[in-house]
Parts: sequence; C-alpha cells; structure tokens
Amino acid sequence: MGYLREAGEIYLARNYRRFPVAFVRGRGARLWDEEGREYLDFCAGIAVCALGHSPPEVVQAIRTQAERLLHVSNLYWTEPQVRLARVLVEHSFAERVFFCNSGAEAVEAALKLARRRAWLEYGPGKTRIVALENSFHGRTYGALSATGQPAYWEGFEPLVPDFVHIPPNDLEALSKAVDERTCAVILEPILGEGGVIPLSREFLETTRRLCDRNGALLIFDEIQTGIGRTGHLFAYEHYGILPDVLCLAKGLAGGLPLGAVLAREGVMEALSPGSHASTFGGNPVCCAAALAVLERVLAPDFLAEVRLKGKALEKGLRDLCTKFPEKLRGVRGLGLLLALETRFPASELLQALFEKRILTTAPKPEVLRFTPPLIISYREIDALLAALEEILASS
Ligand SMILES: *Cc1c(COP(=O)(O)O)cnc(C)c1O
Repeated sequence: MGYLREAGEIYLARNYRRFPVAFVRGRGARLWDEEGREYLDFCAGIAVCALGHSPPEVVQAIRTQAERLLHVSNLYWTEPQVRLARVLVEHSFAERVFFCNSGAEAVEAALKLARRRAWLEYGPGKTRIVALENSFHGRTYGALSATGQPAYWEGFEPLVPDFVHIPPNDLEALSKAVDERTCAVILEPILGEGGVIPLSREFLETTRRLCDRNGALLIFDEIQTGIGRTGHLFAYEHYGILPDVLCLAKGLAGGLPLGAVLAREGVMEALSPGSHASTFGGNPVCCAAALAVLERVLAPDFLAEVRLKGKALEKGLRDLCTKFPEKLRGVRGLGLLLALETRFPASELLQALFEKRILTTAPKPEVLRFTPPLIISYREIDALLAALEEILASS
C-alpha cells in the first residue's frame, strides 16, 4: 500500500473506516489509484458525482468562475447564486432558496425554519418534530437528533429535545405522533442510509394530510434522492405529493460542497434577515458547478435515460435473485438508487467486488447499494452484473 495511506494513518482523525486505496484521478464512472489501477464506480462519492468524475462541462464552469470570482460572502449578490436559485425554483414546487454547504446544514436550516415559523405563527410550544426510525439526516446536532438510528447517537446525548421517531410506513404510529404540538415531519421519500427503503404512497399521502390538518410543515430530505437520482429531478415527482420544504445537497454541485433548502414564500419568510446564515453558503464556484450539472440533468431525454438505465440494472439484479434465491432476497429502490438484499453479510459481496475493482456501498448488514454516476453506460452496468454473477456462482 502506498505512501498516501501510510501518511494518512499517522495524521488523520480515525473516524472513518477506509478501503485500502487512494484515488488520484477519475473520468466518467472510472477511477484510478496511486498505482494506475482502474476501478468501476457504483458509489460515485456516495451519490454525489451525478455526472461522473471531473465531467468536462462542470470542470469548465468551475474554472471560468474561479478565475472570475471565488467568494464575497452573502453580504452581496452574485450571479451564479441568483441564477441557480432561479433554476431550482423554476423546476420545483418552491419559490425561494437558502444555500448552505452540506446535507447536514440543509437539514439543520430546514429544522430551524420549521421551529421558527411555528413560533412566529402559533407562539411558543409548537416544537415537536416527527422523524422516522432508521432515517439518516446528517451528523450535526439537529440533524443527528432527527436521525432515527440510535447507533449514531452513542456518546453524544443529550440530543436536541422534542424529536419523536416512528417506524417508516406505519400509519397508526404516524397518526398518533402528529398533533397540534408538531411543527414538522421530516422524512426521506426513500431511506438511503437506512438501506434503500421506499415509503409507500399511502404513508406519504397521510403525512401530507396530517401536516395540513395540524399546521405542521412537511420536510422532504432529498439529499440522496434528489438531482435525478431516482429518474426524476426530485423523488417527490414520482409520488405527486409536494413537501413544504425540500433539502438538497450531494449531487447538487456534482462533487463540490453545496446544500440547499427550498420552500414557498409563505414558509421561507420565517427566515427573516439575521435569523439564519452561512458564510460560504451559495459560494459562486459551487453554484456555477451546480448550474452546469442542472443544465445537463434537465436536458431533453437525460432523465428518461436514467430511468431506462435504472430499469436495466434493476432487471439484471432481479435475474440474479432468481438465479441465486438461496443467497439473495430481492431488489429495492428507484432509478439509479438501487439495493440488493442479501441472505449473508453484504460486506462479503462488497469486499469481493472491491477485489474486482468495482466500488459499491453496504449501508446495512444485508444490503448492498448501487448509486452509480447518472451517466453510467449499459456496458458498465453489464460489467457489474457479470462480476456479481461470477462472485455469487463461486462462493
Ligand atoms: C448524506 C445525507 C445527509 C447528510 O449529508 P452531509 O453532506 O454528509 O452532511 C443527510 N440526509 C440524507 C438523506 C443523506 O443521504
């Protein structure tokens, strides 16, 4: 193993379990390590590199903007930020955008927006936030408190008060949890880190109705499902159910750090001047990158192709389930956010694929997840399926 790992082991915090590889270059769905070995990427920086690695139009947009203006803060207007907000508004339910730098920051801003709007409209006391067990919303205190996985809380309590967690798709628990004290319900339309678990239409419709009845905001965390990942720009389009607040990050700027919160005017107005802020949020370079990403993702046929490729990968995975029923349980997900449920530790499959230089992730002990760049080719999908079949046949 090369110099980078040895030095990293000495100087870096030990908060990550990393694969024994250091990447130096990428292109499309391919990566190259220190020794020049090529890898096929079905991780894409955890659903971040929507257009693959170093897509030329994004690199060009970054280069042009970097030469023009790097940063001025949000004391002033900049063209990329205003243009990006306009594109997001024109392609969503929303009327206004708040920019930040990451997923956790977007969730944090959404939660603060919900509490403050309830306080402004109803007075103190309407502070409860309903979230789902097994959800993931990020690592800062508010986002961590929303996250419904106690393993992430270990050693960090006390958390932010007044969060309630209910099982996903449990209508009875939902009706019990949402009442007049609730200021928001936050959920991922498909629980990503939770193991790629889609919510039912009935559950989302009921949540929408209960939020309306109780004056609570419905927050969709589409940090993983947004920006074309599921075959539509936003996953909520599949369901036809609109949130009040939408959180974005990951794929938004194609590899640069950028988060966003989208809402209608009547909701976003709760963030009055001085109530919330970010020094770097909506940085011109990141916004220029995001504009280049969205131009491609919103071009004719791009999302239709994502849907077709998702179907091809899903069918291939289902065929493997038919072929190896004693090893595989099934397939879950939408578009190019897919997961294979295994009957043995998914880490074994992850490791075997890694040895064949194919990158995937295993968010749960028996779930292998695929989040390739949206520009993945059919040949690359076939290469993954062939490798999986070889591993499954020989183990
Ligand atoms: C990744 C993720 C986050 C956290 O994003 P960071 O940029 O790591 O803070 C929040 N919610 C969901 C659904 C995610 O997938």
